[in-house]
Amino acid sequence: MVDIQDAGQALKRYFGYESFRPGQEDLVKAILNGQDCLGVMPTGAGKSICYQIPATLLDGLTIVISPLVSLMKDQVDGLEDAGIQASFVNSTQDMDEQSLALAQAAQGRSKILYVAPERLDAPRFREFAQHTKISLLAVDEAHCVSQWGQDFRPAYLGIGDFIRFLPNRPTVAAFTATATEKVRRDIVYMLGLDDPYVAVTGFDRPNLFFDVIKLESKYKNRWVVQYALKHGEDSGIVYCATRKETEALADDLTKAGVSAVSYHAGMDAQDREQAQRDFVNDKVQVVVATNAFGMGIDKSNVRYVIHHNMPESIEAYYQEAGRAGRDGEPARCSLLWNESDIVTRRRLLDMDNGNDRLTGDQTEAVRAEHRRLLNVMIGYCRTTGCLHQYMLRYFGEEMDQAAAGLSPAEADKGNSVPVGHPDTCSGGCQNCSNCLSTFTTIDVSDVARAISRCVHDVNQGFGSGKIAQILRGSRSQDLLRRGLDRCPSYGALDQVPEARIRDVLNQMASDGYLYITEGRLPMVHFGPKAAQTVSPDFHYEIKRTERPRASGKVYGGRSSSTVDDDGLDQAAANDASPEDEELFQKLRDLRTSIARKIGKPPYIVFSDKALRDMCRLRPADDATFLAVNGVGQHKLEQYGPQFMGVISEFSARGGVDVVRGTAESDR
Ligand code: ADP
Repeated sequence: MVDIQDAGQALKRYFGYESFRPGQEDLVKAILNGQDCLGVMPTGAGKSICYQIPATLLDGLTIVISPLVSLMKDQVDGLEDAGIQASFVNSTQDMDEQSLALAQAAQGRSKILYVAPERLDAPRFREFAQHTKISLLAVDEAHCVSQWGQDFRPAYLGIGDFIRFLPNRPTVAAFTATATEKVRRDIVYMLGLDDPYVAVTGFDRPNLFFDVIKLESKYKNRWVVQYALKHGEDSGIVYCATRKETEALADDLTKAGVSAVSYHAGMDAQDREQAQRDFVNDKVQVVVATNAFGMGIDKSNVRYVIHHNMPESIEAYYQEAGRAGRDGEPARCSLLWNESDIVTRRRLLDMDNGNDRLTGDQTEAVRAEHRRLLNVMIGYCRTTGCLHQYMLRYFGEEMDQAAAGLSPAEADKGNSVPVGHPDTCSGGCQNCSNCLSTFTTIDVSDVARAISRCVHDVNQGFGSGKIAQILRGSRSQDLLRRGLDRCPSYGALDQVPEARIRDVLNQMASDGYLYITEGRLPMVHFGPKAAQTVSPDFHYEIKRTERPRASGKVYGGRSSSTVDDDGLDQAAANDASPEDEELFQKLRDLRTSIARKIGKPPYIVFSDKALRDMCRLRPADDATFLAVNGVGQHKLEQYGPQFMGVISEFSARGGVDVVRGTAESDR
């Protein structure tokens, strides 16, 4: 019988970590006791450890079901580098390689075997599973089993069947970063979890700096290019809404001298695989991707994630943004958005016909759910409150409902965060753009009323550019020729800047007062809430953001957000001295050269955090080297001498106090 102390020792020996993070220990304990469990933790919180540690201690084999074949190799590389025997079977291998992997697992020479869910149906795999002692079945990204989520994967539905097929039922442990209560319930039901221990850990990621920037579409690419140039040493992911956008932006970045690739589902598998590999191996710095990229991406040194567009839900956002800073070091998550993004998202949602496994009613229910999720996302973009808190409240409220055992209908009522109303920032986390900015709310009721009036005057027959011109009282030939200067609302807003009119108009469209039609020449029509604008108590506001010390160019002349926001950058920066920075670069170079030699991604050799720790501790002996975050016995033996060599050379040259290199100092 293994106990939790053994688990703690295994954590140190294999992974070099001093202690479990919140939630991990209890999940490990449950698994070791043979209890099914469900771990709900945000991306980067450390779900893998929860099944990997038990896998090293349990008698038989641990099978890990993971949705992404292309990542299995990295996961296995990482484990082997930590000294844990692991393998995978998947379609990238030929028959011989597959047989070898299965034979190794059957003979107990692998403790962990990764497979994709599709594999569970294969006769050869079933045959193998029937004759192998399987102690634990870990289901990664378990929300893929649910049709309520955005990543539904039909093959996940076969997992329950596979479990029933096994002669001895293993412990089943499911993991997800999705906090939706419905999805969680689905996981328990669809996988047939037996009285599972459920751990939901805190969703905060304090090392992430959250940043929301309202920016007109035409300025977005330039913003991203400048950001990437300014952070030339860092790895980053930029998420775009469409394939075309990813290609255009990757192009802009490349032209500006940033090594960037695009990644989307329209590329052929080989190019996609190559793009991912180059990114993971630090050969390219930036990947510009659609949301097809990243599920299960394990690269720990992603220093920034930029969303070029507003995602469809907070869940999706948190998952994608959460790919930054998995190593616990500061990282930045920036979201660029504008009102027309919202209009596009809503349109996409209305066009989505769901999947054909659902009836018409179910499709409508799923769509309504997606609309609700989108509204919460819009609230995030517009809030003036703390961004960390906004997300925590969203996840937290759902957690409370789960604990209280509310019905789904009740849960639905409760868990929507008010949209469009500023949440007061009580915490002042100093780690998000809102907590570092001040806001002014501007009453634009008159502007909104005039816009609505003008749309009426022109019979919903013109686009937003013309509406703004009419309201401004423009003398343009085109306008005069069409006789639009005879409109009652002509010149009604001649004192208001055109940019302000457009801002208000766009916000009205995303709030449902107006509706902008599709097509080459989008027209401004009335939206479902249009009638409210003529009511005497109609009140409408927009917010203006004042950012700290905006030293660079102001984009679009209206938003004061710039990439050179030193105030914001400082918050996300490392407080390393120039000397530590120099050593860090040297250690990073060594890491890259080792990684190239052994053909594994650099982050698998050591995380950025481990390198930072080395700069701080300057280890000169094994005991101190083991005290570095992420150094276990195996890594010490493999890489210790080389890294300590570089450190001692650096310290000797710089005349740095070598006494720092003892395990006791600096603690
Ligand atoms: P998730 O699957 O939840 O997104 P991972 O399992 O990839 O997260 O873990 C994220 C990072 O945190 C990894 O680099 C992992 O090694 C590290 N990590 C996990 N558990 C611990 C721990 N107890 N102490 C320190 N680092 C940890």
